[in-house]
This record gives sequence, structure tokens and C-alpha cells, in this order.
Amino acid sequence: MQQFIDSYDFTGKKAIVRVDFNVPLNENFEITDDTRIRRAMPTLKKVLEKGGAVIIMSHLGRPKKVDAKFSLKHIVARVSECLGVPVQFAEDCQKAQEQAAALKPGEALLLENLRFYAEEEGKPRGLAEDASDDEKKAAKAAVKESQKEFVKTLASYADCYINDAFGTAHRAHGSTALIAKYFPDDKMFGYLMEGEIKAIDNVLKNAERPLTAIIGGSKVSSKLAVLKNLVGKVDNLIIGGGMGYTFIKAQGGQIGNSLHEDDLMPEALDIIATAKEKGVNLSLSVQTVVADDFSNEANTKVVSSHAIPEGWEGMDAGAESLAAWKKIILSSKTILWNGPVGVFEMEAFAKGTLQIAEDLAEATAAGAYTLVGGGDSVAAVTKMGYADKVSYVSTGGGAMLEALEGKVLPGIAAIRGDK
Ligand code: AMP
Repeated sequence: MQQFIDSYDFTGKKAIVRVDFNVPLNENFEITDDTRIRRAMPTLKKVLEKGGAVIIMSHLGRPKKVDAKFSLKHIVARVSECLGVPVQFAEDCQKAQEQAAALKPGEALLLENLRFYAEEEGKPRGLAEDASDDEKKAAKAAVKESQKEFVKTLASYADCYINDAFGTAHRAHGSTALIAKYFPDDKMFGYLMEGEIKAIDNVLKNAERPLTAIIGGSKVSSKLAVLKNLVGKVDNLIIGGGMGYTFIKAQGGQIGNSLHEDDLMPEALDIIATAKEKGVNLSLSVQTVVADDFSNEANTKVVSSHAIPEGWEGMDAGAESLAAWKKIILSSKTILWNGPVGVFEMEAFAKGTLQIAEDLAEATAAGAYTLVGGGDSVAAVTKMGYADKVSYVSTGGGAMLEALEGKVLPGIAAIRGDK
């Protein structure tokens, strides 16, 4: 049965906590952005305050073997500083029995990178390139078998399990999902996970209407499942950014050299038809800022999104598109934003994305619920200084996208006990 961190009695208990400490490090192994460490602190501090001890586990990067470059020892000092207690370090996540057993209430132990072991992901490593299908199958079965022992060892360190790693909630890994079965009555989400789940539910389950989704970014292919899921749920669907041109071309528009995916035009027409059928207001860009080169210094002009001249490409939403979208945003009670509406990394083409951020901030101030989630729109609102002017900014890129696709995330299902 799922427990809750606020009501659970941690007195004298050891909690093994999966966090996402996959922080960026520079060439001197210094942390360049400690957001992920700081976001896990409320959960870790709560356990310590309530008389428990924490065993912290995470991955860092994508090591394929034990590799000092990806050691979590690089972050021990910062974690200690943030947590306010000296954090001990276990150099091998599978050999931490004694250190875990010796932990006293209020103490913390950080385990070495879980992905030093293939068992964390449950995928075989080091297979020869010319391995036969049978060999691949056997290797997979072997790692799945040894994964059981790996997970059991981690579970043996603690009395309860907390998952606070939303960034890996879409993975059925040892520490994110499989371990939960060892704690049938002592498993719970950390505060960060609770916040992310609530944010998703606020949009997908309990949205106050009108509900609007703004989906931008570069490619239809990476967001097709999201669009398909959302078109059946929202009142307004704004499609902007590079992916919009596939829709415009599918409708017969001239898009010049703009980014597009011809093979996805039938899917785009399907989405347009579904929107019509369901009475969803699908809004594509009507006006585009085009450039004669994919460069901040390119020549630009403003044209109809359906009549982009040859030799020019769509780089940002034009003022008429932004005005139409602002009207929709400000009349909505719930707004989800995923993906920039222009090439915001270049200053010359960041205006549209900045305008959406401003509109969201205005809608939030007027009482709407606004969620920014999944990838580059998160980077955009953060860079533009709007992160604290919207209701929630998600920490999970891939996990948020899968949630928006309507998938049940393994990390969430493992705690809730649903499938
Ligand atoms: P995604 O990861 O799919 O959310 O895409 C984000 C990327 O889409 C950003 O790097 C943007 O620069 C890019 N993008 C947005 N609009 C356009 C456009 N009109 N043409 C090319 N790339 C775009």
C-alpha cells in the first residue's frame, strides 16, 4: 500500500531514496547546475527531521562500466552542504551493507552511481557487434536474472523506499520501479514526485476548463503521441514552432525551406480531422518571421505562414499568430506548454517564445493553472526569467512527454500499485 511522506513514521527507520542527481559537471568535475540536488532536499530533510536516516541513490550520466568520470563522489560535498549534515559515501552501491547498517537517525549515506552496474537498467552490456539473436536473448535473460539480486541488495539496506526521481520515472529500472516490491507497505513518493504528479493530474485529469495546450518544438515525429493524446482532451490546441510547417504544408500551404516532415503529413491531417470532429479549436501559425539562412544574422521578413517564398524558412511566430494565441491563452483556465514556438536560442527569433512566456505569466497572475513541461520550453522559461511566474515547471523531460502521451509511468505505477 502506498504511504505518504507527511504521515509516515520515520522514527529510527532507514529510508532508501531514489533521487535524480544527474547533474552537469565541467571538466574539473565541478557541478555547473545544482538544481536537481536542491529539488530533492525537501524530501531528504523531511526524513532526517522526522528521526530517520537516508540512503540516497542515483545515476549520473550514461556510464557503460565503472568509470571515475561518472562517480557520484564528485557531488558528495555539495549534497552535504545542501543537506546540512556530512554525507557518507559508499564506493560500491552493492557493497554498502555495513555502512547502511551503521547509520543512525539523522545521518545520510550516498551510494555510488547505480549505472556502474548493467543490472540497474537491466540491459546487457559488452555484447559483440556481430552477436547472434540467440546470444542477445541469452545475455538479456542473464542480466534480468542478476538484476533480481542487485535490487534485493539495495532493498536490504532500508526499511522504506521513497522515489523522488521524476526524471527517470518513465524507466522500469531497478531503483526506479523494481525495488518497490520489497516495500509493499512502506513505499511512497517524495515531494518532487508528488508535485510533478499533481501537475500532470491538474492538466490531464482535473483540468479547469477551457484547457489549452501549446505544443511547439522542432519535429512532429517526437511529439506525435503527445498530439494524438491531447487532441482528445483539450479545448484549444496551439501548434507552433518548426513542427507547425508540416501541418501547414499538409493543408496545401507553401512553406519554402521551412523544417517539415513529408512522411508525417497524413498524421498531421488526421490530427486536424480529429480536432474538427471533437470540436477542438486547433490553431496553427498564421504569420511567420522567415529568414534567408538558419542564422541569427540572416535577413528576415514577415509573411503569411501559408505563403513562405522559396529560399526562406520559418524561424519564429509572427505578431498576428502571437496575438491570436494570446487571446486563447488569456481566456483559458488551464494551460500546458511544451516546446518553443521559434528558434529561441537565436536572439533574432526568440520573440515569439518570449511572448508565450509572458502570456503564460499573465494568465497565471489572473488565476489560471499553467504547466511548462518537457524539454526546451523549460529551458526557455528558465532562461527568460519566467520560471517562478508560472504555476509549475516540470523537472522531467522524457518522463513528462511520456506522461503527456497518456502513458502510465513505471516509477509511478510501482508506488501506486496500479499497472
Ligand atoms: P523540441 O526538442 O522538439 O521541443 O524542439 C526544440 C527545438 O525546436 C529548439 O531547439 C528550437 O530551436 C527548435 N525550433 C523551434 N521552432 C523552429 C523552427 N521554426 N525551425 C527550426 N527549429 C525550430
